[in-house]
Amino acid sequence: IAERRLDKYDIPVEVSGEGVPAPAEGFADAGLAEAVLRNVTSCGYENPTPVQRHAMPIVMAGRDLMACAQTGSGKTAAFCLPVVSGLVAEGRSGVGPRERSSFNRAAAKPRALVLAPTRELAAQINEEAKKFSFQTGLRVVVAYGGTPMYNQLRDLERGADILVATPGRLVDMVERSKVSLEAIKYLVMDEADRMLDMGFEPQIRKIVDRMNMPGKSVRQTMLFSATFPPEIQRLASDFLSDYIFITVGRVGS
Ligand code: ADP
Ligand code: MG
Repeated sequence: IAERRLDKYDIPVEVSGEGVPAPAEGFADAGLAEAVLRNVTSCGYENPTPVQRHAMPIVMAGRDLMACAQTGSGKTAAFCLPVVSGLVAEGRSGVGPRERSSFNRAAAKPRALVLAPTRELAAQINEEAKKFSFQTGLRVVVAYGGTPMYNQLRDLERGADILVATPGRLVDMVERSKVSLEAIKYLVMDEADRMLDMGFEPQIRKIVDRMNMPGKSVRQTMLFSATFPPEIQRLASDFLSDYIFITVGRVGS
């Protein structure tokens, strides 16, 4: 049962789950990596939005998360900042300069995957993730359908720490062994409600099944949605473990 209350800024929140970390007051006390904090400042973000204040500490604490907040509330940075920060803290990927400069034929092995329903959204998340990753050495790559795969594959072959993808194109790439999901530490599903509305559930389940194969790295999973209908509740209980649920602000259905 979720607890409903007003937070200290009078924002209505609902929270459930064990050991929920306290919301962050500002970006500076969210525990973000230095470089990420600098990038937040260069984006002109002064204070975190309500969903950012509540979600960032949960993701930073390594917890699975189901977060609902309305469109325009700043969900992208709410997951991007802690994920970029976590990857920075973890250190460099195995992709060295030599492997980057010459094309390697092995599948790309991103450590973070963000799934989004449309090419426009994937492109937006890609842009934002790139800004937050500036001067961290992390590579962000985007993959969506409706356009030839060639340029996206060329980009992937240079290495990808964060892959932002639409489900259909990702399944295609995984089946062609262009992307391996075995190193995924962070899985984000953005606009999960829209992804289900668009019929992507089979592709999403295929992708998650790949990550659940034995010997794969331990994964942190986050679902973001503007609404919380029963199908999303089912997705959350299937994909998340020991998770924290938050609703921030007033949310439909
Ligand atoms: P949502 O995914 O919840 O619909 P977005 O992440 O797309 O919302 O953010 C909406 C807009 O608010 C974007 O233009 C984004 O750059 C801006 N934004 C996000 N967080 C902040 C912040 N802390 N301060 C100022 N602007 C922000
Ligand atoms: Mg969004």
